[in-house]
Amino acid sequence: MDGRVQEWHGGPLTRPAGWPGSRHRAPSAARGVLAVALVLVLSLGAAVLAGGLPWPGTAGPGAWPGVSGPATGRPTPGSGAADAPLGQPVDAPATGTWDFLRYQDDGVTPVAYDPCRPVRYVVRPDGAPPGADRLVAEAVAEVAAATGLRFVHDGATDEAYSESRPPHQPGRYGDRWAPVLLTWATPAEAPGLAGPVAGLGGSHPVTAGGPWVYVTGALTVDAAWAATAARSPDGRADVRAVLVHELAHVVGLAHVDDPAELMHPENDGQRELGGGDRAGLARLGRGACEPAL
Ligand SMILES: [Zn+2]
Repeated sequence: MDGRVQEWHGGPLTRPAGWPGSRHRAPSAARGVLAVALVLVLSLGAAVLAGGLPWPGTAGPGAWPGVSGPATGRPTPGSGAADAPLGQPVDAPATGTWDFLRYQDDGVTPVAYDPCRPVRYVVRPDGAPPGADRLVAEAVAEVAAATGLRFVHDGATDEAYSESRPPHQPGRYGDRWAPVLLTWATPAEAPGLAGPVAGLGGSHPVTAGGPWVYVTGALTVDAAWAATAARSPDGRADVRAVLVHELAHVVGLAHVDDPAELMHPENDGQRELGGGDRAGLARLGRGACEPAL
């Protein structure tokens, strides 16, 4: 170990059945190495239970049993949707390196959130580090500005982290897609945080026969790591960078092998969005409006 991030990409031999994407070791807090990078694409919803799902990585949205078929377990279509994108699309120069977690069937268009409705999120405050509210607000504002998506804070929740989180929870959140869930968790609660992994993030794609659209997601940050890091200004910048990195995964950005980008999986010392990060996020703010969902 040289103190850098240890990571592994989720190949067939290391990825648990049903887990899309890849998993990455987080930076070690030892030696003062910047802890920014860590991520694991969460497998939300029914995919975990299904196991053995075809998961094409960046080649397509994959199959999500229970959400790609008949409209069961879904809210009333178009809940909270406007007729036009809520925010202003972002123009970002096509510089740097970026990639998307999932693509539409054309292999070119990324899966994204519906820009005609807000990306609602809730925060479970348990285990949050000092100053967490401000760090989260800053990270959300940064991703909102880079995508043009409208984010709405729906307040606090007591919903626990889960690797099989239902995307529709009418008993808790009403007749709508569940909001994105942000938690500060322990490895005991979120096994993906075991070892030096500091954060996890991902979203749940759904289709009504048209484009795949992310309808909810989750991100979690290692509570113990964040509590220690938040004691210093540099550490708080690390926590904010991890939040931005995970939020970028939530809205659909994938890792890239370019150390100038925040989405590099070993982005030691990189705390700000790079040119490619911004180009990709701008594209993710121009997804399709899908009132059928
Ligand atoms: Zn990552």
